[in-house]
Amino acid sequence: MEREVRVRFAPSPTGALHIGGLRTALFNYLLAKQKGGKFILRIEDTDQTRFVGFAEEYIKESLAWLGISPDEGVFEGGPHAPYRQSERKIMYKQYAMQLVESGHAYYAFDTSEELEEMRARLTAARVVSPQYNSISRMQMKNSLTLPEDEVTAKLAAGEPYVIRLKVPRKEEVRLNDIIRGWVMVHTATLDDKVLMKSDGMPTYHLANVVDDHLMEITHVIRGEEWLPSAPTHVLLYRYLGWEETMPRFAHLPLLLKPDGNGKLSKRDGENGGYPVFPLEWKELEEGRTIMGFREEGYLPEALMNFLVLLGWSPGDNRELFTKEELVQEFSLERIGQAGTKFDIAKAKWFNRHYLLQKSEAEQAAFLQVDLDKHGITASAETITQVCALVKDRVNFPADFWAESHFIFQTPTAYDKELIGTKWTDEAVQVFTILATKWETIETLTVEEAKHQAHEVAEGLGIKPGKVMGALRFAITAATQGPDLMGMISILGGKESAARIKTALAQLA
Ligand code: GLU
Repeated sequence: MEREVRVRFAPSPTGALHIGGLRTALFNYLLAKQKGGKFILRIEDTDQTRFVGFAEEYIKESLAWLGISPDEGVFEGGPHAPYRQSERKIMYKQYAMQLVESGHAYYAFDTSEELEEMRARLTAARVVSPQYNSISRMQMKNSLTLPEDEVTAKLAAGEPYVIRLKVPRKEEVRLNDIIRGWVMVHTATLDDKVLMKSDGMPTYHLANVVDDHLMEITHVIRGEEWLPSAPTHVLLYRYLGWEETMPRFAHLPLLLKPDGNGKLSKRDGENGGYPVFPLEWKELEEGRTIMGFREEGYLPEALMNFLVLLGWSPGDNRELFTKEELVQEFSLERIGQAGTKFDIAKAKWFNRHYLLQKSEAEQAAFLQVDLDKHGITASAETITQVCALVKDRVNFPADFWAESHFIFQTPTAYDKELIGTKWTDEAVQVFTILATKWETIETLTVEEAKHQAHEVAEGLGIKPGKVMGALRFAITAATQGPDLMGMISILGGKESAARIKTALAQLA
């Protein structure tokens, strides 16, 4: 019988969730939804020294914002609760003991100085990667080298110890990764990983394998940086007798810097002026706030679409996918092995697409936020008209305001330098007549505005094109913006005339 697909996102709460972590969560979620399975959130907090209190809430909020909330987990509960490893501490010990008893793990009593000495000794002997392994362990203080009664005495005396995995010396470990195919590793390259620390906490390796087994995880989908740990995990499944139900592995490709040179880091975002975290994050030590995709104005559906294509491809040249389509079409087999560039321009492109997909009312609501901030009231009709007018110029919700603020805020100061030589005598002549004409007119359609402006210019023997830049400046005190006649029509004759007069007076 096919097992129910059960996948987990297993972050360590050590800081803000990186965008690569969110992609991992998304891929897990999509597989679970597609297969009618379960998406689980497990918090891997066995390393208490790196624990950051707010990180869990941050993870929860990030997943909720993207729209990929777990079915089971720390916040939802579920049949395998608790889902926080620190609360499962007592469960791990028995498995570590089982491994000791079956001869696949051992007690090690070495102090940190002794471990240092060993590394120094191996380095001096030009060992390339000095580690605690099948060779070096024989010179160390552990239950494989010490007489049995001494080991018993040390344990009875409460001497600190760790439990290490006894990695065989000459074996090949194979695993069939869904994305990478067969991965073969020789055990000579693996070290005797600590499974249980001296404080009784399991390490990541032990807790991860035990939990994946107990939580009946069928697929482990995680970042490529965990691939080197996978052979150790395979050995653990084998020695614990769980090989038959071992999850399938899928190690996701790295996220690379936009130029493709190296792994994407937090600093890249800061230097390049783009977010690498889903939500804003307050750095406690430095007391500063780093913006997230949400605060920068990215829509969750745009971020989802952007993230999924960082690794997965549909096999043809389609790029736009709703969440429902992704649930239908996603497959682990279509994830590439090569690192994928974090191209923020593409994220903007998606954002613009989804922003334009929003209904008139939703777009209006974005503009309303900024109008409220500035204490401006405007009719629903005007807001809708303005949104339609500036729509071609927006990438983010805040752009509705940025591209239209001069419609709502009457300019008070005109900077002569901005318009320079374009403010000509001809322009002044045209605008003087135009202002008088429009002073008494309440409503102007786009066509009427254009027709009248042209008519006045042509009546004076002036090509309309020559004064349009100056007219835009008179209306907005800016040299760029949305369609000029569209703005004049929204403002109406009187307001346009008043603005032109102010400009004429100031720039005289
Ligand atoms: N706790 C690990 C992390 O922080 C999880 C790795 C895994 O999924 O096995 O990413």
